[in-house]
Amino acid sequence: MALVSRRLRRPRAWPGAPRRAILAGVTREELLAAAEPRWRALRERRAELGGAVDMQRVLVTRGLDLGAALDRQPLPVAPRPAGALAARLAGGEPVGLDEGVEVDAALLGPYLLGFCDDLAAGGAGAPARHLREVLERGEIDVGSLLAASLGRRQAAIRTRAVHVGVSPDLTWVVAEMAVGPLACRLRQHVLAEADPDPERAAADAGSELAAALRSWGRGYCPACGSWPALAELGAGDPGDGDPGDRGADDRGADGAGDGDADRADAGRRLRCSFCGAGWPCAPGACIYCGAGGEGLLAAAGAGEAQRAELCRSCGGYLKCVAGGAPAPFELLPVIDLETSDLDAGAMERGYGRPSMREADAPAPPCPPAGEADNPPPG
Ligand SMILES: [Zn+2]
Ligand SMILES: [Zn+2]
Repeated sequence: MALVSRRLRRPRAWPGAPRRAILAGVTREELLAAAEPRWRALRERRAELGGAVDMQRVLVTRGLDLGAALDRQPLPVAPRPAGALAARLAGGEPVGLDEGVEVDAALLGPYLLGFCDDLAAGGAGAPARHLREVLERGEIDVGSLLAASLGRRQAAIRTRAVHVGVSPDLTWVVAEMAVGPLACRLRQHVLAEADPDPERAAADAGSELAAALRSWGRGYCPACGSWPALAELGAGDPGDGDPGDRGADDRGADGAGDGDADRADAGRRLRCSFCGAGWPCAPGACIYCGAGGEGLLAAAGAGEAQRAELCRSCGGYLKCVAGGAPAPFELLPVIDLETSDLDAGAMERGYGRPSMREADAPAPPCPPAGEADNPPPG
């Protein structure tokens, strides 16, 4: 890492910033130990995913190493008044995770290149190697790329990638993996006042920010604005699933919450795989366009524990998995892979997931016709 020049000065920590290790109580080894039997079972159930499982093990491990490196540093964040954050949420805008944050490219850059190497070795081949070369040559500035990813500026990243001749999808994904662990820690910090952990939330249960978060109810992430990777059904637990908050075991599925609104919506919790946020969202309506009723179909997955919600109005789909406690942030990719048959089934039927909601897009961000990855059938 010493070979990498420091493009950005080391960010100053907010003096009062808590340095709560996200792995507090749950070690890297425990998380890997929790993932391993799931990877084994998935490989047994779907032999064709063997390569994807191997690749994910490498990527998740690197992500955990990155998280541990971040936990040794002060969080590069400036204070933000809770009232202003609450006002943003009330207006339908996510609080955003990049404001006042200096992304440490010297720390994250080597991981960004490492993810390129992992993908190149794991089957992405020449496009991943090419992306690495472009990053090393500075044709895409690493600091700018990471900052754009943290700000979820997908159009800007895609435009730059196309301009220099690398895969826009690959660039987006690699940057996301390198920034996600930071996003998770920033989200915990920024929304700390609205922390759903019952022990800590007691003092803040009546705060404006906590109330705004409880009544968010939108399809996109209140922290970063991403669409959720999936919904956890019947979690019955308003915790956000971070291992630092409640551990990798199933403790926490006790329904203890920080408000009645959470309890009312505990049946469906949306999860953001970029920043790890979890938020309640009432069932019965499409999370993308709000359509409900007969326009919303359910497609069963493998067993009763999985299904996809398909929206005939906008062509979007949402994966839903039954579960107890919210999954730790680091294991969300594992669930995503476990449920990849739902993606395949939905896409076969012509459904897709909308692209990233841009910050200046009107809310609710129903994808314009033709913008969903696949148009709705018929
Ligand atoms: Zn998020
Ligand atoms: Zn819809």
